Amino acid sequence: MNYTVIDRGDQLSKQLAEQFHQLVANIGFSHQPDNPDLVLSIGGDGTLLQAFQSYTDRLEQVAFIGVHTGHLGFYADWKADELEKLVEFMANAQPTYVRYPLLDIEVQQAKKTTSYLALNELTLKGVDQTLVAQININDELFEMFRGDGIVISTPSGSTAYNKSVGGAIVHPSFEALQLAEIASINNRVFRTLGSSTLLPKHHHCDIISRKEQRLQLSIDHMAITDEDIVSIRCSVSDQKVKFARYRPFPFWDRVREAFLGYEYNE
Ligand code: NAP
Repeated sequence: MNYTVIDRGDQLSKQLAEQFHQLVANIGFSHQPDNPDLVLSIGGDGTLLQAFQSYTDRLEQVAFIGVHTGHLGFYADWKADELEKLVEFMANAQPTYVRYPLLDIEVQQAKKTTSYLALNELTLKGVDQTLVAQININDELFEMFRGDGIVISTPSGSTAYNKSVGGAIVHPSFEALQLAEIASINNRVFRTLGSSTLLPKHHHCDIISRKEQRLQLSIDHMAITDEDIVSIRCSVSDQKVKFARYRPFPFWDRVREAFLGYEYNE
């Protein structure tokens, strides 16, 4: 098995990464950062976003596993003191793979179009003033938005920024994207639905910049500031991210444990 490790950079995460290299050397794993089948992320969900964005060109081959060195994450579900147990599973058991939907993003600028994938979401905000944008669904005008910003999330990203702005939590078995507003202004000119909206896989939406404005675009943990963004198209990707699971940890148990605080017992 070819593998690599991405850690958060703090002392505990680095120490666990070192320990993992030693443990898997004994079971014949080969450290191949350019060509991994398995990417172990050690840190938090933010670290797993970073790991995902490093291997978007190899999603067919790569399976991800997350170890958390802080609190329980949605992607990072192994505890720091379970590393040996995880390697034992790796040596003796076949994982099952769960696949989560992703967001396809096409950013159109004056002279080029750039494609991205998001595991959590895209966020668009104005840098200097409120964001002014037209939102089309399936090429038809849907609403004129004026406000702090827009979050378009995947189902697994629905527990992140989307949740903070009042969006619904969506089980990752739904192939959908969710459009949620950040502080929209509603008046006779700018009128928005005011609630978050779920689009199915065969639909798409466009956010079209409606004035000269500097925009702050974030994709997962990456921030991109640009004056030149003309429009952004979002749709559910045909690609999925793959997680290797050596034990079950149902999505709703994660939600309960992360937000309501009840312990999950195997
Ligand atoms: P960060 O600002 O350092 O951390 C944001 C928090 O979101 C961390 O606690 C992170 O967990 C958590 N998180 C990430 N993905 C999640 C998910 N799918 N479900 C539940 N919680 C999740 O930024 P970062 O670590 O680079 O992560 C980038 C993410 O931050 C973005 O994708 C966005 O979703 C989120 N964010 C949220 C807000 C907000 O809620 N107001 C604002 C900006 C950005 P860990 O501690 O385990 O890493």
